[in-house]
Amino acid sequence: AIGGLIYVGYGIFEMRHPPDQVDPDPSKKTLVILGTGWGSVSLLKKLDTENYNVVVISPRNYFLFTPLLPSCTTGTIEHRSIMEPVRNFLRHKKAAVKFYEAEATKIDYEKKVVYINDESEIKGDVTSTEVPFDMLVVGVGAENATFGIPGVREHALFLKEVNDAQAIRKRIMDCCETATFKNQDPEEIKRLLHMVVVGGGPTGVEFAGELQDFFNNDLKKWIPDITDNFHVTLVEALPNVLPMFSKQLIDYTEKTFKEETITIRTKTMVKNVTDKYIEAESAGPDGKKQLEKIPYGLLVWATGNAVRPVVKDLMSQIPAQKDSRRGLAVNEYLVVKGTENIWAVGDCAVANYAPTAQVASQEGAFLARLFNQMAKTEALESRLKELSEAQETAPNKQARDEVFTNIKELQRQLRRVKQIGPFEYSHQGSLAYIGSEKAVADISWLTGNFATGGTLTYFFWRSAYLSMCFSTRNRILVIMDWVKAKLFGRDVSR
Ligand code: NAD
Repeated sequence: AIGGLIYVGYGIFEMRHPPDQVDPDPSKKTLVILGTGWGSVSLLKKLDTENYNVVVISPRNYFLFTPLLPSCTTGTIEHRSIMEPVRNFLRHKKAAVKFYEAEATKIDYEKKVVYINDESEIKGDVTSTEVPFDMLVVGVGAENATFGIPGVREHALFLKEVNDAQAIRKRIMDCCETATFKNQDPEEIKRLLHMVVVGGGPTGVEFAGELQDFFNNDLKKWIPDITDNFHVTLVEALPNVLPMFSKQLIDYTEKTFKEETITIRTKTMVKNVTDKYIEAESAGPDGKKQLEKIPYGLLVWATGNAVRPVVKDLMSQIPAQKDSRRGLAVNEYLVVKGTENIWAVGDCAVANYAPTAQVASQEGAFLARLFNQMAKTEALESRLKELSEAQETAPNKQARDEVFTNIKELQRQLRRVKQIGPFEYSHQGSLAYIGSEKAVADISWLTGNFATGGTLTYFFWRSAYLSMCFSTRNRILVIMDWVKAKLFGRDVSR
């Protein structure tokens, strides 16, 4: 408890504005960082900002702790508890950082310029401008994959941003309230209360679990009329869900879903989406492919990532990116192949790792180390140059020897500083919540390869996510939300 108090006290103390923050130095190299997700923020956290003239550009002026986003769709967690304003952590940097809330629309890599748009919600107009860079980090993430399937963008809801979670929360309640409307048609009630999730990756599985919890713990108590018809179905094109987990945990998840009465439809590929049903292809009893209409009230689309247009456009300007499909191909130092002064981190970079928060945050931390070292190297090299000149003009042997000793020491330091190895990802494991207070975990660092599922794992999942939260403030808010949901149930207002 004392440790906890000290921790909280430190967190509150940390929130203060340091009075000695220096202004950005425009004579230094301009380092532009695009994005405020896992990659960019982890870079900013560890970057010595006094070495560069740092500019951050993102349409979102906050960092979002995405692992807990599925919990926001049902009100287990309020969205503000997992948001951390960029300004909150930028003001703790030694040298000030410029932040522009804007979307990068084009990167001209030859001119070394980023074009940005700021959409004003108040005036409803768009202001465009350009920001030049000497060094650029692209950490803009990815967009939702739809594979060009008709109707997805128009009718499905995604689960990537805060407003997606809010839209889902509203839609769930809208479906429940409309289903219980006076003289509602029985078929329509069934449709409205059919909650369909497409994509059996961790996003789809975690959301389906959270939604079923919401129904079991709260909805069915507050709106008993929906009990017989509320149903969650998870649709997945592959033969099983959670392909990145071990067979044992896949079986455990499928068994738990069965107990929770969530239907899993594997080997079922969605081909078309309308406002009231999806059309999915699956193998019939005779093995022949059949197309089936599945009516839905809520449709959540969680089929993974696609490349953002700004990234696609940058790739099209660089011949070395010609064969890359899933994002910006980078080398082992995360330099975008075919360039010298552009780096990429997170879901927009292709570095042979899965597009996860864990990879992005390690890449960001690596770049911070790299940039800090590069600045130190430059400072040491310019000092060495000065000393070499001083050695030539030294008045006597003693002075020359002194300078020589200093040069040797600087050369030694320089060799050490230059020794930064390539980026290596260290996989800490995979975790996913699967509903009814159970989670699955594939943890490689614990016992070689440790797979576990169940209630204990759920507490592990909770503490792991809590410790990964951005700030003490976030941690306290998340704990309060959990306690609130346990004591009073989730808020079912729309
Ligand atoms: P994903 O790419 O992991 O899974 C998407 C699934 O959708 C795939 O299994 C695919 O077969 C299926 N699919 C695609 N098109 C379909 C269609 N037309 N019909 C039916 N099914 C279809 O996507 P995700 O869950 O959003 O995850 C994205 C990335 O983020 C992954 O790398 C994942 O590991 C990571 N992530 C990890 C966690 C965690 O560790 N807890 C949580 C969320 C996301």
